[in-house]
Amino acid sequence: MASDPAKRIYDIQQFGEFGGVNPSITDSSTYTFLEGETMEETFLGHMEGCFLYSRHWNPSNKFLADALAAMEKTESAWITSSGMAAITCSLLQLCHSGDHIVTSVTTYGGTYAFLKNWLPKYNIEVSFVDITNLDQVRNAMQPNTKVIYTESVTNPLLQVSDIPELAKIAQENGAKLMVDNTFTPMIFSPAELGADLVVYSMTKFINGKNDCVAGAICGSKAFINNLSNVNDGTAMLLGPVLDPLRSSSILKNLHTLHLRMKQHSLNALFLARKFEALGLALKYPGLKSHPQHDLHTQLMNSEFGYGGMLAIDFGTEKNANQIMFKMQQANIGYLAVSLGYFRTLFSCSGHSTSSEIPAEVQKEMGLSDGLVRLSVGLDNNIEEVYERIKSCL
Ligand code: PLP
Repeated sequence: MASDPAKRIYDIQQFGEFGGVNPSITDSSTYTFLEGETMEETFLGHMEGCFLYSRHWNPSNKFLADALAAMEKTESAWITSSGMAAITCSLLQLCHSGDHIVTSVTTYGGTYAFLKNWLPKYNIEVSFVDITNLDQVRNAMQPNTKVIYTESVTNPLLQVSDIPELAKIAQENGAKLMVDNTFTPMIFSPAELGADLVVYSMTKFINGKNDCVAGAICGSKAFINNLSNVNDGTAMLLGPVLDPLRSSSILKNLHTLHLRMKQHSLNALFLARKFEALGLALKYPGLKSHPQHDLHTQLMNSEFGYGGMLAIDFGTEKNANQIMFKMQQANIGYLAVSLGYFRTLFSCSGHSTSSEIPAEVQKEMGLSDGLVRLSVGLDNNIEEVYERIKSCL
């Protein structure tokens, strides 16, 4: 794949009021109209460029949404107050009572919990599959399937989704392919590979500072208009709007995402090769030993590398906890959930961000009790960091 998401962001010129180099922050929840008629037209969604009320649209979120739509090459985008809001609002917009979803069993724990525990209460049926097994996906499709859901690179097992093939299956069955690209912004351009909808937790790599929680939905203009419809749009009516101050700071961070992704990838690949040589049981899509290494190579925007996420199996939770304790003591990073930060973060997935998944399902999907997920930071001297990690093992 040769797509250039960084160039598409670069090509946008967004001026602030008075010629500022950053777009102005709109510090208002409501907007004035000269005439009542224009207000009504705006309510009806007929007045593009007019702002009504900040839960609906606000200029700061629109600047960020436009940049994300450019990055993803989608017609439009929407900003939410969390990644979960992006996921839940999109799924609820696409599916109604009586519908069916096919999803990767390996997803972020919160997503799994929503699909497993929440949607069935509203009569939306969900089938969980091994997303790397396309026959399983095909066999799970039903006449009422509305969505195939996956993560480009799954959390925490780092399986790579075959987006073009999944898109074909979705299309053949009249369903939409929805892809969470949180682990791999810029590395994959899911919409260009055939996904109908791309969602993000911007809390992670896109913002990169771990100072806020935010999300985004990138898709067609029609879908984003539906989300913001005043009568039945989930984003409008459930109300997960992001504060404009936050969206303006995320937009500034988006402009360094290309550099950060390259450095996260370089550092993670360096550590992965060293860990593999030590004989550790590890998962990293940049290693030839990874089962979907070739697929990743074929689909990726190669200049951004294989991403900053890697996972090491330390066998037991006890071992994992001991090693993570030592790693934090050695200031390698932080024993914390989340990812995409400039410092390395590590946590034992089965007992943290995947703890919503019952133990027997974790076992079935191959999530070991001692699996530690590392989000590798932007460290300048990764050789020295590796030596310090080695001394903790
Ligand atoms: N998607 C993935 C892959 C995640 O890892 C997470 C959170 O860890 C989310 C979505 C949820 O995002 P947020 O915490 O911003 O709601």
